[in-house]
Amino acid sequence: MNTLRYDFRSDTVTRPSPGMRAAMAAAEVGDDVYGDDPTVRQLEQRMAMLLGKEAALFVPSGTMSNLLALMSHCGRGDEFIAGQNAHCYMFEAGGAAVLGSIQPQPIAHQPDGTMALHDIAAAIKADDMHFARTRVIALENTFGGRVLPLAYIDEVAELARERELGLHLDGARAFNACVALGIEISEFAAPFDTVSICLSKGLGTPVGSVLVGAGTLIEKARRDRKMLGGGMRQAGILAAAGLYALEHNVERLAEDHRRAKQLSEGLASFADLSVPMPDTNIVFVKADAELEKAMTQFLGERGIAVGGQYGQQRWVTHLDVDDEAVDGALAGVREFFGG
Ligand SMILES: *Cc1c(COP(=O)(O)O)cnc(C)c1O
Repeated sequence: MNTLRYDFRSDTVTRPSPGMRAAMAAAEVGDDVYGDDPTVRQLEQRMAMLLGKEAALFVPSGTMSNLLALMSHCGRGDEFIAGQNAHCYMFEAGGAAVLGSIQPQPIAHQPDGTMALHDIAAAIKADDMHFARTRVIALENTFGGRVLPLAYIDEVAELARERELGLHLDGARAFNACVALGIEISEFAAPFDTVSICLSKGLGTPVGSVLVGAGTLIEKARRDRKMLGGGMRQAGILAAAGLYALEHNVERLAEDHRRAKQLSEGLASFADLSVPMPDTNIVFVKADAELEKAMTQFLGERGIAVGGQYGQQRWVTHLDVDDEAVDGALAGVREFFGG
C-alpha cells in the first residue's frame, strides 16, 4: 500500500478543516423536514440573498439538485436541452429520464465548450403532438473547469426568453467562475431561473448542494426532494459547514486557480504532454494513451493521485493541495520522464 501524499483527483476529496468541524459541532439544529432547523434556514436564506433569488433549498448532492431543477421546470414527457457532456445529461445516471420522465435533448459542444446558438434553436421543438415539449435549457459553468463567456450566456438567455423556456445553471463550481471573472455571484446568477451550487467541491464541505431560484420552482423542488428521499432531519450540522465555507473558502479559490496555472506550466514543459492553460482549478493533460497510463501508474505508486479518464488526465487543485503538493507532484512527473 502506498501512502496517498497528494490527491489531485477531484476537489471533492477535501476533508472539513478544524474550523469547519467546530462550526458543525456548534450548529443549532431542528427537524428540517418540519422546517425547524434554524441553521438550514439560515443557509438557504443566505444563498438566496447572495444569488439575488427568491428562495433556496439545501439538498444532499449536486446530482439531486440538478434533477430537482429539471423536475421543477418540466413535467412528464417534457424535454430539457443540455450539452452532450453536461453533467446533468452525461454523468447523472440518466436520472432526469428515469426518475423525472423528462427526455434529454443533448447538443454537441463547440471546441470552447459552448453549444452553438443555432444548434440550440434548431433543437427546440415546435408545438406539435409528435414532439416532446421543450421546457428548459441547462447550461454548466464552469464547464470542465472552463469559464463560459458571459456574452454567450446572455445570448442563450435571450433565446430562452424568446422561446419561453426556462434557463437552469449547473453551477457546481459557480464560485470558481466568479472568482476567476472577478464578478459577484448575483450578477453571474442573474440570467437564470434556477442555479445549482455544490458546497462539497472547492468550497470544501463534506456534503451538500443548494438549489437557488424563483420561489414557485423551489417550492416544487422542496416537495420533490421529499419524494426522492432527500428530506433530511437535523441537517443544520451539514448546513453549518456550508455557512462556514461561504465565509472562509470563497475568496481563497484564487489560490487554487494560481496553483492550477503553476501546475499546468510545469506539466506543459514536458514535450510529450499537451496542457491547455486552465481558467480555474482543473488542468487537463493529453498524451499518448499508453504513456498517460504509465505516468498515472508511476505517480500513483509514489502517492500522487491524479484523475484519468478516457485518454486524458485530470488534475484538480483544492483546499488540501498546497504549494508543496504542486512542487512534489511536478518532481514526480520529472522523475517519470527521467529528469
Ligand atoms: C460534481 C458535479 C455535479 C454533481 O454533484 P454531486 O454532489 O457529486 O452529485 C453536478 N454538476 C457538475 C458540473 C459537477 O461537477
